[in-house]
Amino acid sequence: MTNIPRSVAELLAHARREIDGADAELLLAHALGKSRSWLFAHTEDPVGEDAHANFLSLLQRRVAGEPVAYLIGSQGFWTLDLQVGPATLVPRPETELLVELALARIPVDAVVRVADLGTGSGAIALSIAKERPRAQVVATDASPEALKAARGNAARNHIANAEFRCGDWLNSLAGERFEVIASNPPYIADGDPHLQQGDLRFEPAMALSCGPDGLDAIRMIVAGAPACLHAGGWLLLEHGWEQGEAVRGLLLDAGFVEVRTVRDLENRERVSLGRTS
Ligand code: GLN
Repeated sequence: MTNIPRSVAELLAHARREIDGADAELLLAHALGKSRSWLFAHTEDPVGEDAHANFLSLLQRRVAGEPVAYLIGSQGFWTLDLQVGPATLVPRPETELLVELALARIPVDAVVRVADLGTGSGAIALSIAKERPRAQVVATDASPEALKAARGNAARNHIANAEFRCGDWLNSLAGERFEVIASNPPYIADGDPHLQQGDLRFEPAMALSCGPDGLDAIRMIVAGAPACLHAGGWLLLEHGWEQGEAVRGLLLDAGFVEVRTVRDLENRERVSLGRTS
């Protein structure tokens, strides 16, 4: 350890040789119990032994592929700070597109019922609930551990207009109707080699892959959603960038109208939507 540099700037330079620069800053700030911006004003400060050791162990785990969000225990999404752990998918920036499209269909001044299926950390449900305080948001997940995280995130972000239910997709919503149903379900094909690479290896398999073509969850949601939507209600689904055509086909076959797919910032087909007639 003696030849390893110990100032903030030196530790960052050391880490940047092995991992992404922003990740290095997040990990060092976490090890020091400071904010990322603190680092920039204290580049020459010496890093104490405990924080140093803690940082090196986080660095090693990051090099081995553990997602930064799991290492520091939180992830920013929309305007929220969400606690995340191995029971939940790490919310992705591209999912903000789904939130935007859902918000565009939820009036600010009306009491609208919204469902988020497979809520994980609560990212989608809580973003919508926060932006639309009059909406009544119901979030479901089959994993009790994920629901615990989502409930904790609601409390942490002072959100009271979201409730959480345990169940597969629409199971816990039987007999109820919503104006908007949104979901970012698992959509990677079982056995896809990406599942064995990078950060995905550390995330819950049930949040990532679903059936031989990855579309099993989406098929179930599309089939069940009409019974849980008011006439003219919207279903919005995030999916893989090569699945747009297939998802539009499923929505059309199920009788949805105004079906289309919206591209993400990387110009890839990412969210398909339709409304009941
Ligand atoms: N809805 C959560 C998110 O978008 C979890 C998605 C999932 O686990 N597939 O982050």
